[in-house]
Amino acid sequence: MKLCRFNNDRLGVVLGTPAAGYTVHDITKLQDEIRAKAPYATYADAVIAALPEYRGRMEKMATEVAGTPIASVKLLSPVARPPKNIAAPTNYAAHIAEMQLRRDQGMNIGKHSPKIKEAGIFLKSNTSIVGPSEGIAIRFPERRNEHEAELVAIIGKKGTDIPIEKGLDYIAGYCLGLDMTTRGPEDRSFRKSIDGYSVLGPWFVTADEIKDPNNLPLKLDVNGEVRQNTNTSDLIYNVQKLIEFASSFYTLYPGDVYYTGTPEGVAPVVPGDWIRVVSDPALGELKIQCRAHVAGLS
Ligand code: MN
Repeated sequence: MKLCRFNNDRLGVVLGTPAAGYTVHDITKLQDEIRAKAPYATYADAVIAALPEYRGRMEKMATEVAGTPIASVKLLSPVARPPKNIAAPTNYAAHIAEMQLRRDQGMNIGKHSPKIKEAGIFLKSNTSIVGPSEGIAIRFPERRNEHEAELVAIIGKKGTDIPIEKGLDYIAGYCLGLDMTTRGPEDRSFRKSIDGYSVLGPWFVTADEIKDPNNLPLKLDVNGEVRQNTNTSDLIYNVQKLIEFASSFYTLYPGDVYYTGTPEGVAPVVPGDWIRVVSDPALGELKIQCRAHVAGLS
C-alpha cells in the first residue's frame, strides 16, 4: 500500500502504475478516526502506529472513493509527526572518499568524515521536514547548499536493543528523501535542520512492496543532469544494521524517520533548481524545486 499526505493535511492511498499513472484516493476520514483515538502520552505518528490495525480498512476505502490524478494534489511529507528524524552520516565508502578529497583540497566544508561506526548517527530537527509541494527555501545562498539523495526507512513499532536479525521487522515502510545540507563549520545537526532541509516523498510505501531494501537503485538528477547514481547494496551499514545501531542508543518509535545515508556525487543547488530522486518504481519519483529564502516569510 502507498500512502500520501496532501493538500491541507489530508491522507490518501495512491493507486496505479508507472505506465498508467497514479491517482490519490482520499481516506482522511480514517485519519480523523485514528487521531481521535491516539494517546498523546505516547511518542508516535498516529497513522503509522495504527497501520497494523487499519491497513485493511484503508485499502478497502481507497477502492470505494474516486481518485484524483496525483499531479493535481499538493504532496506533503508522508509522515505527519515523526517522533525522531534520524540520519546516517557517512554510510557509503565513495561518499566518504569524496568528502576526504575536499579536505585535502583545503575546502572548508566541516569536520572530518569518519565511517559510520565512529561517527555514530545524528538527529535533524523534525520541523525541517517538508513534502515535495513545499519546495526547499535555500537560506544561505553564499554557502554550498547540497543535495543528499537517500533511501528513508520509516519505523513501524516501538523497540530498543533490536538485534540485526530482527531489524527489518521494525520497519513499516520506505520513502525517498533528501538530506539537504548547508556546508560549514557548525555542528552537523544545526546545518541540516534548516526549515525545508529534510525532504520526504512522494509517498510512503509499506515494506511488503520492497523486496530487498539493501538492493535498490538510487539516482538523483538536478535539472536533468545526473549527479548521484548508486545502489543501496553499497551501504556500509545495511538497513537492518542501521536499526540495530540506532536502537542500541535509543528507543525507536512508530513514525521515526531514518535517512540511511547518501552516496557520492553530492553537489550544490541554487534557487530555481529542480531536484529529482528515483529508485524502485514502488517508491515513486521525488521532485522538488529550490527557491530563495525570504527573511520572515519562508
Ligand atoms: Mn545525509
